[in-house]
Amino acid sequence: METKSKRKTHDGIETETLNNSKLMKLFEEELKDIYWAEQKLTKAIPKMIEKTTSEELKEALENHLGETEGHVIRVEKVFEILDKKATAQKCKAMAGLTDEAEEIMSDCEDGAMLDAGIIAAGQKVEHYEIASYGTLIQYAKTLHLDGAVSLLEQTLKEEKAADKKLSEIALDSVNAQAASEDGSDLW
Ligand code: FE
Ligand code: FE
Ligand code: ZN
Repeated sequence: METKSKRKTHDGIETETLNNSKLMKLFEEELKDIYWAEQKLTKAIPKMIEKTTSEELKEALENHLGETEGHVIRVEKVFEILDKKATAQKCKAMAGLTDEAEEIMSDCEDGAMLDAGIIAAGQKVEHYEIASYGTLIQYAKTLHLDGAVSLLEQTLKEEKAADKKLSEIALDSVNAQAASEDGSDLW
């Protein structure tokens, strides 16, 4: 553990040992949540890759799948820093986001429309992860967990880059293609 045992707040009140603090509890809970979410994504992204027809999108998803496997490992390293066993706790938000992704994939027609739907679902996932890692980093900073901060920041950077890449693919090709195809016979 790299936390300090006692510290004073700005108004001089001695706080609880950081290790046992309420913020530490929140940090652990959030970590279990993202651990579940990242593992879920290692299974959900391949399904998206399978349905994609855009070569550019397929490549981006394959690249982020590899990164996501690394995110799982980084979360495990953060558990190690805490001296805790890596434990996953169902993230209801990610379960919902991946359910929705499946729904989009079954509703959309193969091709540009499906690709645009996959990008939309993927970006919602990335934004959830960006929010989660942002929170985890803030907690880790307050808890003086410097090693954890740097691991979590590396992942956050990759989540942001993945989101940006998806925006670019949508703008460059996929959305324009979907906009040019007739959808009047769909739902
Ligand atoms: Fe991730
Ligand atoms: Fe969650
Ligand atoms: Zn991601």
